[in-house]
Amino acid sequence: MRDFKDKKRIVVKIGSSSITHKETGGADLVRLEKLVRELTDLHNGGRDVVLVSSGAISVGLKAANIRGIYYSGTERTDGPDEKLKLKQAAAAIGQARLMMMYQKLFSEYNQMTAQILMTKHTIVDNLNRFNARNTFEELLTLGVIPVVNENDTIATYEIEFGDNDTLSAIVAALIDADLLILLSDIDGLYTDDPRENKDARFINEIVKLDDTVDSFAKGTTGSIGGTGGMATKISAAHIASASGCDMVIANASDLGNIHRIISGADTGTFIHADKKHDFYIEDYIREE
Ligand code: GLU
Repeated sequence: MRDFKDKKRIVVKIGSSSITHKETGGADLVRLEKLVRELTDLHNGGRDVVLVSSGAISVGLKAANIRGIYYSGTERTDGPDEKLKLKQAAAAIGQARLMMMYQKLFSEYNQMTAQILMTKHTIVDNLNRFNARNTFEELLTLGVIPVVNENDTIATYEIEFGDNDTLSAIVAALIDADLLILLSDIDGLYTDDPRENKDARFINEIVKLDDTVDSFAKGTTGSIGGTGGMATKISAAHIASASGCDMVIANASDLGNIHRIISGADTGTFIHADKKHDFYIEDYIREE
């Protein structure tokens, strides 16, 4: 039995595939509604809660009816990349839509929410990082559940985190969270990709991250509109763990897993914090 009852500050990350319909990319309102209820309940229990939500690009592509064009889009080297422009436009449309849905659903429970969009600059730049941390602190003091995403509309390759697994670990480190829950379309970490290897074993607990664990985390794919796979989750685990934050990777197929995890159930893969005394968040941002 895991003991998470004293976890006061929790970051939950949900991927695009878990809150959108696979067939169309449109928002899955039933799942969004359950997610919001779970998070509000955590907050009602006296915890600080931050949500890192993907889905902007997926929802935007669907809304603007450009999903097909985007996925058949070409990369160019002789000027602005057509696909990038579509993605950034989709993110601008989709992020606003997504926030509108989160606002509506949270307000059904009288729960305040807010939006924070970040890029690598937010962390690398000392003043930006200082401001971002202060804003999170203030929002949490006010009882808000902030919804965070990458600022995909302006982030290009040089300044993007690229995936929200990494972003959520950076956020957890920035705000000194006690627990990061990464919700995915898989139960947790296996010794190999279980979709390809039937002998892959499930790993329930990782006390120390090492090369063997890294080797389990192959570049399994993310879904349409999302990024990720196990490799980005384990790289996020390195950040969270070094910052002193416990982490659980769990399946989003049942959003009840959120309260199950908090109440100590053996759900998903638990990666123990292993705090480095000289942890500096900036050191964990990949330089391009
Ligand atoms: N920020 C992207 C979005 O909102 C998703 C990135 C990811 O899937 O990790 O669509």
